[in-house]
Amino acid sequence: MTIENKVMLITYADSLGRNLQETAELLEKHFTDTIGGVHILPFYPSSADRGFAPLTYSEVDPDFGSWDDIALMSKDFYLMYDFMINHISRSSEYFNDFKNNKDQSPYADLFIRYKDFWPGGEPTQEDVDAIYKRKPRAPYIDVTFADGSTEKIWCTFDEEQVDLNLYTETTKEFVKHHLKGLSERGASIIRLDAFAYATKKIGTSCFFIEPDTWEMLDEVKEILEPYGVELLPEIHEHYSIQMKLAEKGYWVYDFALPMLVLHALYSGKSERLAHWLTICPRKQFTTLDTHDGIGIVDVADLLTPKEIEETKNNLFSQGANVKKVYNTLAYNNLDIYQLNCTYYSALGDDDDAYVLARAIQFFTPGIPQVYYVGLLAGKNDIELLEETKVGRNINRHYYSREEVEENLERPVLKRLFNLMRFRNSYPVFDGELTVVDTGVPSKLELTWNYGDLRASLQADMVTRQYTVHYVDEVTGEEIQLKDV
Ligand code: BGC
Repeated sequence: MTIENKVMLITYADSLGRNLQETAELLEKHFTDTIGGVHILPFYPSSADRGFAPLTYSEVDPDFGSWDDIALMSKDFYLMYDFMINHISRSSEYFNDFKNNKDQSPYADLFIRYKDFWPGGEPTQEDVDAIYKRKPRAPYIDVTFADGSTEKIWCTFDEEQVDLNLYTETTKEFVKHHLKGLSERGASIIRLDAFAYATKKIGTSCFFIEPDTWEMLDEVKEILEPYGVELLPEIHEHYSIQMKLAEKGYWVYDFALPMLVLHALYSGKSERLAHWLTICPRKQFTTLDTHDGIGIVDVADLLTPKEIEETKNNLFSQGANVKKVYNTLAYNNLDIYQLNCTYYSALGDDDDAYVLARAIQFFTPGIPQVYYVGLLAGKNDIELLEETKVGRNINRHYYSREEVEENLERPVLKRLFNLMRFRNSYPVFDGELTVVDTGVPSKLELTWNYGDLRASLQADMVTRQYTVHYVDEVTGEEIQLKDV
């Protein structure tokens, strides 16, 4: 199935119901008119990071189900799968073989050995300082081989996520093999996870290195093209990088929107948000929430440093059940680039503010993605957070089938689903957006036109009141969308 300009759900394989089968059943029963596509977060056998440390791409984790369950889902929805181009599990057969057979392993070239990468076998302090790091020291793990020797091997993320050496033929073959496999197993689009870390060069930040990044993306695109599979490179960075990717024709994420909408709703001023909607890429996937946090780096220079600080502080003062300490070592969460909170709780568990935020997202250019917790207007899960002491778990609630169905009765969800139905069925969002200059700082007016069709969102950031009007396709009359 090819991708469509309809709301896309992001979900784990075991969080909307117990497994893929239950997820597929729930989606088929309740969501075929509100959701067009599904990003199933990594469903492969994995040793850490909720699937982001895959052992292989050839299998579905049996705890989640099978390829048949996924095939079932693909009947109603276009699907997005993840490919972790930067790393593979430390517990994978590839890494185990390397550990056992070292230089004799056919997979030795998959990995980056400090002894080969750095002149003299170690980075200088200057090299380490230059690297765009996820930890406060050089990115490596110490590995002991079967023969008793030890080496440092490049590792950017968790200890279970060992970096791949994208510059070798062995890795290029590995990438090709698995991307082809995923394309043959029903992917309509591949999300290229954390791709910017995959390019490495001495004396650089080892992050989004040009032209290497472009060559790598082109190679991936070439593999997917014959299958008609699209590519979504994932990167949290300055918005100019998303612009560059978009200029070259790639799909991009709108990770700036979450903070901009929060800023508009907290401050009562729409100017920054309106500016972004005027300049943002058109070929994008928009987000308010994902399985990760609310991006901060993504909004630099779209908000001033003071506005970013104010928005962060407002999240802690106006959000429901969210504390600064959840973003610290005490909760295994040192990610300074993101804030963890459900979007509903970021808006104080307030129905009006939340539905308005979604209305703004649905009127933003691009395909809107809604994370499963957001789909159910979920509150911060303090119980799971405290039980696991993992900061990101605040926004990773496990919903049983019954819990999902109970939630469907909430008025906030009825309003949200009405909006989603409208977004999916009224074709105006394939047209052109005009960000109307209202001359009033609190007001935001977004109008889409497509042929004779028109839809308009008029909203006030202070009162949080809004209306949606559209032109009826048959009568040509302007009507107000009800019950949103
Ligand atoms: C994913 C994260 C993950 C990281 C490493 C990301 O950008 O979205 O959830 O921890 O890549 O795979």
